[in-house]
Order: sequence, then structure tokens, then C-alpha cells
Amino acid sequence: MVMMTPAPTPVSTQAPLQARELYRFFRAGEEETLALQGVSLDLSRGELVAVVGPSGSGKSTLLNLLAGLDEPSGGTVWLEGERMSHQPETVKARLRSRQLGILRQSDNLLPQLTVRANLTLLAKLRGVDCHEDELLESLGIAGQALSLPHQLSGGELARAGLAVASVGSPPVLLADEPTGELDGDTERVVLDLLRSRADQGAAVLVASHSPAVHQIADRVVELLDGRVRR
Ligand code: ADP
Repeated sequence: MVMMTPAPTPVSTQAPLQARELYRFFRAGEEETLALQGVSLDLSRGELVAVVGPSGSGKSTLLNLLAGLDEPSGGTVWLEGERMSHQPETVKARLRSRQLGILRQSDNLLPQLTVRANLTLLAKLRGVDCHEDELLESLGIAGQALSLPHQLSGGELARAGLAVASVGSPPVLLADEPTGELDGDTERVVLDLLRSRADQGAAVLVASHSPAVHQIADRVVELLDGRVRR
């Protein structure tokens, strides 16, 4: 009898995050702002891409479109091969909760819950397993599990925010100015933690105007006036 070895599970070569020709216009009265003008971007597993550019260049607009928190005026966003843009809110919410972790400069945690309770609640909402203590340990804040967010230092709060963004190990992590309010040493620690998320296989995008982000990035996408400059 010929023994057949099982076929290997196909590994998807598709980038977890793909954006094609994104446009976003804002209109206020007679005035129109072209916040994004044809931005395309692929983000691979294990890759950390920095999106840099001066204030007003379109970084936040881009992140909001990638996260499905805003709709592009033109163009398409796919998460793990599923279209995110121009979908009903229920579809976008499902995609966000399964495929995306979002880290902001602040307000990543519910203020009335402890750090651990924030993780537990989010895991329940997402319907995923979360080994809260392990996750906090990996981010160096196991001792703060029972603290409320306002009891944490800036660096601890940033790590706790990263823990929230990492619940359920989403394949894509988007960080919008994650170190904007941190001192240099703490910034380095948070950037290193984002780097290690990428090294563990996540596709990580960090929008920042801090020069330190260049040191941890595999690739830098520079925006200027809503276009990719390089
Ligand atoms: P960055 O994050 O790089 O500072 P933004 O994405 O916030 O840049 O802004 C890009 C451009 O779009 C700016 O000119 C900004 O004023 C404009 N813009 C962003 N959001 C809005 C909005 N909701 N309404 C009108 N203009 C906006």
C-alpha cells in the first residue's frame, strides 16, 4: 500500500493588508482638501512599515481608512483578502475585531476597568482566547494587571495599550503616533515591543513623525501632501 503524506496546509502569500489607490477628499463649504491622493500600500506578515511625513500629510487619514473607521472617496482596502472598504458597518466591525489591533496615542483602555479586566472584556467581545497574564508578562507589566489605567505611568499605559491591541493576536497591527507622549527611553521600549510583534509574525504599520521609528522599520513610506513620496 502506498502511504500518502498529507498535503501541506497552503500558506497564503497574500499580504494581510492591501490598499489600492486610496483617495480621500474633505469638503467644507467651497473648500476641498485632498487629504489622500492615490496611496497604495501592501503590508506583509512579519513586516514593520513606518508611515512618516509632516503634520497634515495624511497619516491619520490613511490609518483611519485602513482600519475601516472612515471610507475612502476612491480606492479599496482588503484585510486578509476580504474587502474592508465600502462594506456595511457590521462587516467592517467583524473584520476589525478579528483581523486588526489598533494602538492609539491615548484612550486605548476603558478608564473604569483594571488592565486585566480591559483585556478580558475585549477578548469576550471578540470571541477569542486571551491569556491575560501571559500577555501582560510578555509586555513587562504583569505587576500592573490589577491597576486602573490612571494609576499607570506613561510607559506602562503604552504597554497596556499594546496589550489591548494584541488581544487575540490579530494578523495586522496599526499604531497611530503610539509614542507621541513618551520620553525617549520609553519610546524606544514601546517601538522595540512593536518590532517584536512583527518578528512574531504580525504585519505592523506605525504612523509617526518621530525619527526613532526609522530604526525599527523594515520599510519607510513617506507621505507628503497626501501622496507617497518614496
Ligand atoms: P497627519 O495625520 O499627517 O497630520 P491628517 O491625515 O490628519 O494628517 O490630515 C491630512 C489633511 O486632511 C490635512 O490637510 C487635514 O487638515 C485634512 N483633514 C483631515 N481630517 C479632516 C476632516 N475631518 N475634515 C476636513 N479636513 C480634514
